[in-house]
Amino acid sequence: MFIETRKLTKKFGGLVAVNEVDFTIEKGKINAIIGPNGAGKSTFFNLVSGSYTPSSGQVFYKGKDITKLPPNKIATLGVARTFQTTNLFEQSTVLDNVIVGHRLRTRSNLFDAVLRTKRYKEEEKKCRDKAMEVLDFVELTHVRDELAVNISQEEKKRVAFALALATDPEVVFLDEPTAGINPGETEGLAALMEKMVKRGITVCLIEHKMKMIMKLADKIMVLNYGEKIAEGTSEEIMNDQAVIEAYLGG
Ligand code: ADP
Ligand code: MG
Repeated sequence: MFIETRKLTKKFGGLVAVNEVDFTIEKGKINAIIGPNGAGKSTFFNLVSGSYTPSSGQVFYKGKDITKLPPNKIATLGVARTFQTTNLFEQSTVLDNVIVGHRLRTRSNLFDAVLRTKRYKEEEKKCRDKAMEVLDFVELTHVRDELAVNISQEEKKRVAFALALATDPEVVFLDEPTAGINPGETEGLAALMEKMVKRGITVCLIEHKMKMIMKLADKIMVLNYGEKIAEGTSEEIMNDQAVIEAYLGG
């Protein structure tokens, strides 16, 4: 089992945002979580990536119980994520955004940084090389030296992917990666997700665009009011009565 949640639950006061969810994320596949607004999708991501501590239940990563680990520990194990909105330093270049974003996540000791020791400079070069590599992977080399403020919405989404990939993750969690962009651009990002999987990275995404997800995802979980109401292939999901009712407001 790659990633497995067992009866994962998160309560906010009286609200049960995620309710006893059992789910297995398949290695080397595109896994998707869908469901109406407020269904608990982002909360589920926050629980798995360690941003939230579950009220009860467990998360296992490659057989190891990671339920109580802090987010940075989980990240070093090979789990990366993007957020629903990515804030870039608009007056910095695309390349610098990725270098800085990556540096913030790599271990670096203040003493080394202030004195600009040899070790610090080596680390800096590694970060730069890695940033160039991931920008190439997400096909942004041509805008590497542009200010972030000047790139398109779709390119900003690609920068978010690059930031996640810079840590060499085994799995990336993408929270609504195609929100706010047009259908043509959405297809480009879908192709990029397929490219990640080809590179051996497991993808788990939250998505609203049904047509796209039905084509793209190998496995889908449907959440509604914090509960898993269905899981399976696109075909299974599309023909599921509970899913049809949740989406048609039945
Ligand atoms: P989704 O991503 O599916 O739209 P969320 O996971 O963001 O849904 O939210 C699920 C429910 O939990 C919503 O009712 C939301 O208002 C609530 N919620 C999410 N985060 C918090 C929080 N930090 N504090 C209180 N309530 C929250
Ligand atoms: Mg959300």
